[in-house]
Amino acid sequence: MNENYNGQNQNENPQGMPVCPHCGAPVRGEATFCGNCGNALRIGFAPMQQNVDTMGIFDYILMMILFTLPIVGVILMLYWSFSSSTGINKKNFARAYLVLYIIQIVVIFAFTLLFGSLFTSLLSLGY
Ligand SMILES: [Zn+2]
Repeated sequence: MNENYNGQNQNENPQGMPVCPHCGAPVRGEATFCGNCGNALRIGFAPMQQNVDTMGIFDYILMMILFTLPIVGVILMLYWSFSSSTGINKKNFARAYLVLYIIQIVVIFAFTLLFGSLFTSLLSLGY
């Protein structure tokens, strides 16, 4: 057993103050980003990006209402899903709706085929 081992985290200096894993500058314990180099100090926190949009509850509600519109909804879904100027939150939300929309169409199409063929086979039996 190593007698010199003090049980401290590798990212802490002997004074118990946490240091930045990127540049070694001392940082406050509750800090999320290094004040010296700006890198994220904790896993799960990425450095702030400028193109990230923050969507509120009403943005989601508005989008959901717009998506229910017959033709406009599909156009908006496609536009927000593939436009490069769309923020990542809006894009992912539009893509999620697009996937659900495609599944819905496939299911309806499958049911139409199934019941359509049942109907024609009943007709051919003479009913
Ligand atoms: Zn740093």
